Amino acid sequence: THTINKIAAGEVVERPASVVKELVENSIDAKASSITVEIKNGGIDLIRITDNGKGIPKDEVEIAFLRHATSKIQTAEDLSHVLSLGFRGEALASIGAVSKVELLTKTPHDLTGKRVEVEAGKIISSEEIACPAGTTFIMRQLFYNVPARRAFLKTVSTEASKIADVVYKLALAHPEIAIKYIQNNKLIFQTNGGYDLQRCVFSLYGKETAKDTIPFHYEKDGIELSGLCGLATLARANRNYEFFFINGRYIKSPLLQKAVEEAYKTLITIGKFPFIILHLNLAPEEVDVNVHPTKLEVRFKESDRIYNAVYEGVHHHLSAENL
Ligand code: ADP
Ligand code: MG
Repeated sequence: THTINKIAAGEVVERPASVVKELVENSIDAKASSITVEIKNGGIDLIRITDNGKGIPKDEVEIAFLRHATSKIQTAEDLSHVLSLGFRGEALASIGAVSKVELLTKTPHDLTGKRVEVEAGKIISSEEIACPAGTTFIMRQLFYNVPARRAFLKTVSTEASKIADVVYKLALAHPEIAIKYIQNNKLIFQTNGGYDLQRCVFSLYGKETAKDTIPFHYEKDGIELSGLCGLATLARANRNYEFFFINGRYIKSPLLQKAVEEAYKTLITIGKFPFIILHLNLAPEEVDVNVHPTKLEVRFKESDRIYNAVYEGVHHHLSAENL
């Protein structure tokens, strides 16, 4: 089964950035209000994620490292209305199979917590310990036992920038969570939490960018839109500043891109792209996020309805601002 886990790990764990994404998503699913992400050497040597979430009960810690161990869905039916970010029960098993892991966790109502160490898929130690409520997950030496995969990684700075990309998007997806990002002992950013997206953008991109955005909110037959529209002065040369989130999950969507860009068209120079952060809240049945394990692409049940709501919401809002 170790071989199977190593192969399967490729699906979820492609590179350090995918480890960071899976672990932070677990912290979000655990309702953490504060998450610290720390990496060293592009995440290859060290990834440490600390959260103040609900922790893992002592008798479930070892099980959590087994493939398909998830506490988030019980039945196949649950799959059609998942709101949690994870549901496959693959991340911990996959990461544990290809690195050295140390996990410390405690639930708020337990007096003591648990510390386990996993190497190449084997639990090598497990003990009861005193620790704060929440979970700390430390991963060291990614792919140390799979040299072929390790050789496939890009340079340290490329891997680091892929991680930063993931962490920035997670922070924008969850302005309500205070997220701290530390790279090689240097604090890169720190958000405050507390639902204020503009303030979150301030923490990530600085004052000029935050100042040049306007918050919006729009609702139309069961579709809720909110976010920040960049003003005309913030037009960008590429799409790197178009962020789309559905139910708290970053996604890529040509449909949403088009709706937003069409709405902007009369307002900014052709050939330029807006700065926009769009949060879409939909009934989980309206959207299928189960398209690929990396879960970036979605299928809408009624794409016309979504397109129109987004176009109208953004257009209406920008017109109201008399740009
Ligand atoms: P999934 O997220 O798909 O359920 P994972 O392999 O990512 O699968 O995690 C396995 C299980 O471990 C989760 O279902 C959850 O119960 C537990 N878990 C993992 N990380 C955390 C965390 N930071 N806080 C609380 N529980 C966690
Ligand atoms: Mg998970």
